[in-house]
Amino acid sequence: MSDDRMGRLVCTECQRAYPWEPMSRCPHCQAPLDVSIDVKPGHEAVFSDPQRWLNQRMWAFRDFLPVRDAEPVTLGEGVTPLLPLPKLRESLGREGDVWLKDESRQPTGSFKDRPISVAITKAVEFGREVVAILSSGNAGGSAAVYAARAGLKCVIIVPANTPAGKLGVARAAGARIVLVRGDLADCYRLLRYGIDHYQWYDVTTTFANPYSAEADKTVAYELALQLDFQVPDWILVPVGSGPLLTGVYKGFRELQALGLVKGLPRMVAVQAEGCAPIVRAFQAGRERVEAWDAPGTIATGIRDPLWGYTKDGDYTLRVVRESGGVCVSVPDAQIAQDTLHITRLEGMYMEPTAAVCVSALRRLAEQGIIRDEHSVVLLGTGHGLKDYPPLPEEDLGVTLDPTQDAFEQWIQQVMG
Ligand SMILES: *Cc1c(COP(=O)(O)O)cnc(C)c1O
Ligand SMILES: [Zn+2]
Repeated sequence: MSDDRMGRLVCTECQRAYPWEPMSRCPHCQAPLDVSIDVKPGHEAVFSDPQRWLNQRMWAFRDFLPVRDAEPVTLGEGVTPLLPLPKLRESLGREGDVWLKDESRQPTGSFKDRPISVAITKAVEFGREVVAILSSGNAGGSAAVYAARAGLKCVIIVPANTPAGKLGVARAAGARIVLVRGDLADCYRLLRYGIDHYQWYDVTTTFANPYSAEADKTVAYELALQLDFQVPDWILVPVGSGPLLTGVYKGFRELQALGLVKGLPRMVAVQAEGCAPIVRAFQAGRERVEAWDAPGTIATGIRDPLWGYTKDGDYTLRVVRESGGVCVSVPDAQIAQDTLHITRLEGMYMEPTAAVCVSALRRLAEQGIIRDEHSVVLLGTGHGLKDYPPLPEEDLGVTLDPTQDAFEQWIQQVMG
């Protein structure tokens, strides 16, 4: 392949550059690698051709993605709705718009289908036959489904105490699932072993796969198209290690460089109080993130203690600060309440990991950090169908004898 068709991988810390090869983090300093792509004149044409976007969906932006010759492995990811949340806006007494970018409308119900579509396409491009992933939830399910589509084998490595419900998608798609009697750090070691010894391709959606992280830029491209190239003041993102947050910000920076938008959004990294390594470093004014000891939260999609790869967190923290944004954590009780509240208030049926954005908006608005007139986008990262808090008994419905009397009594009692 000629040089001008290749981008490079550039270390986010030491700036060393590498060719596009199946690499994970920087071999020199273990920091995340960032894909650099030469954007050529003409590539921005897609932004004046919304029909192409609607037809080809995420892959309409392939000139901005680190794939050149390979045929995309796609299930139609992208083109997710941008929904106003007027009742939430009113209930918080806000003037500025509050929007939800609804990423639950993806083939497997989370935004992970964007990065996984690119990761599996790269696996095919690199000629690999087995992909492997460390994930207990959305990313694992997504990898299993896209691997099936591409005809690849998929190995999923998770701790043995992973709730069974979360593995449903992966099991349906025939992934090889390894339940390890140990914690995430043990799983990570075993994953590395398979990758180092058996040519498995790592599609883990931390920064372990630099190519897949680029796909998260397409959320920014879509927001620009949907908001008529107006930039929201704030974007709130649930953060595990942070490729979604850094990807969205990078997408806006590219749009700015192309002259398509003026200004950049401020990014908010939202974590749960039970696992908030990035927030802790932010609040202490530190540059280095330390791993979290005993992670525990109902926001399972962001329950990442960063064991073994704290530099992922360092990078995310730098991007948040560069954007003029903040990191904030919210308690599980509030998350559970807001998960339910936002479903009943706005019909937004999201997993707790996505609802953290609502709790964070509430808190940052109270603190006056997000001002009333500011416009806000919440990233609704995952669907409520796969993961939802337990509901109170009285919400589970009633069982009646099939008589009109019993029914009439119930109507009088309940329907008022
Ligand atoms: C993975 C995940 C996140 C966290 O995204 P990162 O980019 O890995 O930090 C947020 N929400 C949901 C629903 C997820 O599955
Ligand atoms: Zn480096």
